[in-house]
Amino acid sequence: MSDANSSAEESAFEFESEGEAEEDEAGLAPVEEKKAAKKIAAIFLKKAPENKTKAGWKAGDPVPYSALTETFEKIEATTKRLEILQHLTLLLQQVSERSPDNLLRIVYLCINRLCPDYEGLELGIGESLLMKAIAQSTGREMSRIRKELEQKGDLGLVAVASRQEQPTMFKAAKLSVPTVFKSLKEIAQLTGNKSQDRKIGIIMKLLAACQGEETKYLIRSLEGKLRIGLAEKSVVVALAQAIIYSKQVNKKLSEAALAAKLDEGTATVRAVFSELPSYDLIVPALLEYGVEGLRDHCKLTPGVPLKPMLAKPTKAIGEVLDRFEGKAFTCEYKYDGERAQVHYLENGQLAIFSRNSENMSVKYPDLIESVPKIRKADKDVKSFCLDCEAVAWKMPEFDESGTQTGGGHLLPFQELARRKRKDVKVEDIKVKVKLFAFDILYLNGEPLLHLDLATRRKLLHENFQPVENEFDFARSEDCTTVEEIQTFLDASVKDSCEGLMVKMLNGAASTYAPSQRSQNWLKLKKDYLAGTGDSLDLIVVGAFYGKGKRTNVYGAFLLACYDADTETYQSICKIGTGFSEEQLLQFYQLLKPLELSNKKGYYDMGDAKPDVFFEPQVIFEVLTADLSLSPVYTAGKGAVDQRGISLRFPRFIRLRDDKGPEDTTSPEQIIEMYQRQQAVSNGRTKGGDDEDGFW
Ligand code: AMP
Repeated sequence: MSDANSSAEESAFEFESEGEAEEDEAGLAPVEEKKAAKKIAAIFLKKAPENKTKAGWKAGDPVPYSALTETFEKIEATTKRLEILQHLTLLLQQVSERSPDNLLRIVYLCINRLCPDYEGLELGIGESLLMKAIAQSTGREMSRIRKELEQKGDLGLVAVASRQEQPTMFKAAKLSVPTVFKSLKEIAQLTGNKSQDRKIGIIMKLLAACQGEETKYLIRSLEGKLRIGLAEKSVVVALAQAIIYSKQVNKKLSEAALAAKLDEGTATVRAVFSELPSYDLIVPALLEYGVEGLRDHCKLTPGVPLKPMLAKPTKAIGEVLDRFEGKAFTCEYKYDGERAQVHYLENGQLAIFSRNSENMSVKYPDLIESVPKIRKADKDVKSFCLDCEAVAWKMPEFDESGTQTGGGHLLPFQELARRKRKDVKVEDIKVKVKLFAFDILYLNGEPLLHLDLATRRKLLHENFQPVENEFDFARSEDCTTVEEIQTFLDASVKDSCEGLMVKMLNGAASTYAPSQRSQNWLKLKKDYLAGTGDSLDLIVVGAFYGKGKRTNVYGAFLLACYDADTETYQSICKIGTGFSEEQLLQFYQLLKPLELSNKKGYYDMGDAKPDVFFEPQVIFEVLTADLSLSPVYTAGKGAVDQRGISLRFPRFIRLRDDKGPEDTTSPEQIIEMYQRQQAVSNGRTKGGDDEDGFW
């Protein structure tokens, strides 16, 4: 729409300060979004929308990388969600008008990814490789770089300082967003024995072309953590608002009308994104059809995993009844396995996705063989998505006369964890797995998310059938009293399940809400009945050397939770209880290769000082007696006061190798657990927000 090169010295957009004190730093709740819509409408209408970045560029040209890093800098300089959102919205709006074909790549660079999760291509270059590249491209000694990393705690800053010392012989061409994105993708795709050197080569080329702060963000992107406090949910909202404004630009709407459009449109994009979390599909559709046309072109599609609906923990059956009494609800076994979203496409293709949208088809070739058989023969089932749990299964055993002598039952999660994750061949499988379906999300071309659970369940049973030792429906009972729930809970535990899932059955509250931890699904685990309610999944970020009998292994570990908003790991406790000698040896062998020379810059550890730090890879599930405020740890810091939240008497339960480093229990969940505990000890239970999922 415009020539961007005219006077761009001052930023055309300054932020008004009114209302800032109320901003929520933990995330962007819908109320904040409404506010953001209002502010952005005012900004759009008050000032000329061009020249928002100093690094201007002409329509049709590739976006300069500096335009993006300049926005990153502004975002990093504030903790206010509204400001963050405004900076990003303005950049995305400019890009969508001038260089729309760059928009998708910008979005990916903002969330530090290269493609949808299920394609499995990841950034996250190891620290030593990056240090090598910095050393080689700046002529500095590795030892100096390592020392500086110790002081600065951020390899991005170390790289900037190294570059500043280096005399510039010639000026390389300016970096553009497409060049950076292409190079990052190339690096992530490189494998094989020469790949390290080739990666270093590409990184050195990029570094040579970087100017100023570009170096910092490039290195952080390569590390896989941008650390500017930009949550993915804010990127989705900014994208929605940028597109809406671009499409309204000539319509001369009033401020109020534009704010309403931004608000409504944002809700649409959020809803569509929950069903179809693929920027590859959503960004081009937004550019072509705008928000109004989005629903017609983007909906749940087999082959693209949606973010699963999650449940809130409850501590007692009484709590379940507080929520559900007088309403129709159902209790289901809470199987102790791994979430499996089964997608069957019209062309017969099949995929199984994990809870974090990872394609698990290679892990479960046996399930891939089973799935076509689960369709009822007399129904014309052409395509579907089922929400299931894959559980380890003890095959029935028979004596010579054909009488069953054992087996035919569920096995605990530990058995499933023994199964290989890659290169699994059906003939080599030792741990059998059975699939239990508890929901249906899509059938024969139609998404079913908007239907109530009773209807979805009916469709599930009408169109599918159990297959012996391979597939069944989740066991369920529509209980109404405490006694009935207790009896069913006991039965579930006896059958090696974790407890029950209690779900709303009818009405609007029983639709499927992707990515949300909803009060319409409650989990009632056997472990909850004492203690804080839920176990926590936490990442091992450090360890303390053992003493006495434990001298040759780590004797205790430092655990942390991942905060997606700030892209940091926050320390939560030291754990040394619940381990057998055998386990301690196993964890030593597992963790020793992950030892780091320095603490990572994105480890926000407070005063916790372990003997060694690790790459974030290993997740422990732990139980705790209760949660307390601590001046040492940083989890959920700021939510209650300046102290963080810590676990008292944490106890190890098991290794969670089905979870990735960013799938820990979140600081929001930990804060909520703490608040619930306080509420219970004050003799009341907490009401509060319905959801605390992705949004
Ligand atoms: P949690 O991991 O403790 O938050 O519990 C939620 C998980 O329980 C889901 O992600 C599923 O993998 C699992 N699960 C087992 N049985 C069911 C069920 N009947 N309904 C929903 N989720 C279930």
